[in-house]
This record gives sequence, C-alpha cells and structure tokens, in this order.
Amino acid sequence: MKKVPMRQCLGCREMKPKRELIRVVRSPEGEVSLDFTGKKHGRGAYMCHSEECLGRAVKSKALSRAFGVPIPQSIIDELRDGGDSEFGIRNSELSVVDSESGE
Ligand SMILES: [Zn+2]
Repeated sequence: MKKVPMRQCLGCREMKPKRELIRVVRSPEGEVSLDFTGKKHGRGAYMCHSEECLGRAVKSKALSRAFGVPIPQSIIDELRDGGDSEFGIRNSELSVVDSESGE
C-alpha cells in the first residue's frame, strides 16, 4: 500500500491528503502563484478547497508568513475562483451540493 502524502492546511491546520489541497507556491524569484499541477518549483503551502480556510489563512497572515512575502490580492481572488481549473473553491463547492434528494 502506498502511503498518502499528507499536508497541513494553512487555514484550519488540519492534515489532509495532498491531493485534496490547493498548492500555493513561491518561486525562487519570489513570485507567488497557484500550482494546480503540483509540479512548480519553489516553496509550497497548502490549503483546503474551502472559503473558510482561505479566509482564515488570509486573516491570520499564515500565507504571507509561510512565504515571507505579502500575498497579492490577485492570488487570493484566484484562490477563491480557481481560475479555469476544477480546483477552484467555487467549483468544489458546487460539486459538494447534492441534487435534491428525498421524496
Ligand atoms: Zn483547511
């Protein structure tokens, strides 16, 4: 059995499987960006697909502390929207909403 790599969410501080988290990466040049492939070089930090965790991470400045640089608002917006990717918080919330069940 392969062990699932676990990472800590900057918002809720819970350990989650890496693939369930959004990776934010700071390049060696100091540029912060989102990494939907998990392959970008640089220092990474992880966050749940959750508006709440994003809010907490921003409020506590956990993100900028993790990277040692201020996080541009555009990155926070991108985290919220997820850009074109399926990893976006908004999209992941949609997928959580179940179609109405019951009689
Ligand atoms: Zn979290």
